[in-house]
Amino acid sequence: MQLERLHWLALWWPTAPALTVAAWLCGWALSQPDPVPGHVGRLIFIAAVPFTIVVGRALMRAAWSLCHSPGVYGIVTVGLLRPRIVVAPELAKALDEPALQAALAHERTHVRHRDPLRIWLAQFVTDLQWPWTPARRRFTGWLATLENARDDEARAAGIEGADLAAAVISSLRFQIRSAAAAATLIGQPEALPARIARLLRPLQENLPDRRPPYLMVAGGLVLVWLVAIVLGLFCGERLVDSLLAISS
Ligand SMILES: [Zn+2]
Repeated sequence: MQLERLHWLALWWPTAPALTVAAWLCGWALSQPDPVPGHVGRLIFIAAVPFTIVVGRALMRAAWSLCHSPGVYGIVTVGLLRPRIVVAPELAKALDEPALQAALAHERTHVRHRDPLRIWLAQFVTDLQWPWTPARRRFTGWLATLENARDDEARAAGIEGADLAAAVISSLRFQIRSAAAAATLIGQPEALPARIARLLRPLQENLPDRRPPYLMVAGGLVLVWLVAIVLGLFCGERLVDSLLAISS
């Protein structure tokens, strides 16, 4: 569980510098008269084009994943605001009772943590870093730790790892690719061999012992952004004037 939270923080961490610059710009904007007397030069607009493309692409992909059906599935949790579990009737017939209960217990943990919404947000923040491949690697790495964390939670509630492994393997034939904005039983197909081996080990060996320092990270970021706003408010004019002079 804690490892999954660390990976979740790592997904968002690269946005901190951009948000700090945005906070600084907000501080500078607050210091400006309304309406502003000057206009920005052409170079600023040209420099903004790549960022506009990246943000536009990320928004379109986020919207598309909301409209897109999860496709061929075995068992999946869907719904951003009201997550619910959907089971293919063929899978329910194919699984024995312990395996079906294990699959349902796994999906209930996805419901409890609103994982379809978290997956959708994680995909969006990854798309905002496109085409930077480390961001994509962090996303797939987080998805793998997410499935492990949900497996552990289900097993801690009394589910046998072997039953869950059997359910995952049986549902493979019903799902051939990852679903967008949905939490499946299978998760990332590439991570399956390690996950099945993990499910067959005793639970205790899998538990990590680190806790993410949420409050410290959040407090530090808020402090940095407040300082950036104040700097933008009192010292932003000189730097912006320099930039405008270069662009004009
Ligand atoms: Zn899952």
